[in-house]
Amino acid sequence: MTLLSVQRLEASYGASQALFGVDLSVGEGEVVALMGRNGMGKTTTIRAVCGLMPNRSGAISFAGRDVIREKSFRIARLGIGLVPEGRRCFANLTVRENLLAAARPGKWTLDTISGLFPRLGEREGQYARTLSGGEQQMLAIGRALMTNPRLLILDEATEGLAPVIRQDIWRAIRSLKTNGESILVVDKTMSELLPVADRCVVLEKGAVAWTGRPDELTAQVQDRYLGV
Ligand code: ATP
Repeated sequence: MTLLSVQRLEASYGASQALFGVDLSVGEGEVVALMGRNGMGKTTTIRAVCGLMPNRSGAISFAGRDVIREKSFRIARLGIGLVPEGRRCFANLTVRENLLAAARPGKWTLDTISGLFPRLGEREGQYARTLSGGEQQMLAIGRALMTNPRLLILDEATEGLAPVIRQDIWRAIRSLKTNGESILVVDKTMSELLPVADRCVVLEKGAVAWTGRPDELTAQVQDRYLGV
């Protein structure tokens, strides 16, 4: 079943148009990689889906509901858990308080989150501001999961982190996939991203240039749309 369906999505920053008709979908239990070089519209697409781009048009349906005109908090409540670029947590709350502030009933609880990220469990009483960047990122993912979303969106969740922590985060993403979570993910580490993706959607100048399975992503496609 299709969980998220985006059609002809356009979005602008003031007078400057960034998306020119993006089409994509995420099925129940599917992991979709949203790809493309810098500035091609990945973050803008995510922000528009989450209701964070006031100037947007087209059609977005989530869990069978038309959400193109919904406010971001309503979309979140319908079940989209966003981990935005740049890991936002409450610095002056503890790990536990950060997680509980986001909690909604479901399988994700303090216990299951510390199963996914043992480091967070060990640091439950620590203030978020005292965590390393990687731990803060885990906390940001934990917070999104605590809302028990039907769709998790990860925007550059491993960017700028130490290699060991990146491995922990990829391990968590693989485990989420194994558990049947639906995920839309943006990440620059192709060697980790492609093995977890069921499908890739490649953006070029605010529109979809290519879509297919990771094993269909030829060197030519990579050079043309993803090369530096
Ligand atoms: P990156 O990997 O660099 O984050 P991206 O694919 O996520 O790239 P977007 O951040 O969505 O790309 O940017 C798409 C376009 O919108 C770019 O041309 C960018 O310059 C423009 N843009 C992004 N944010 C703003 C903003 N706050 N104001 C004006 N233009 C913006």
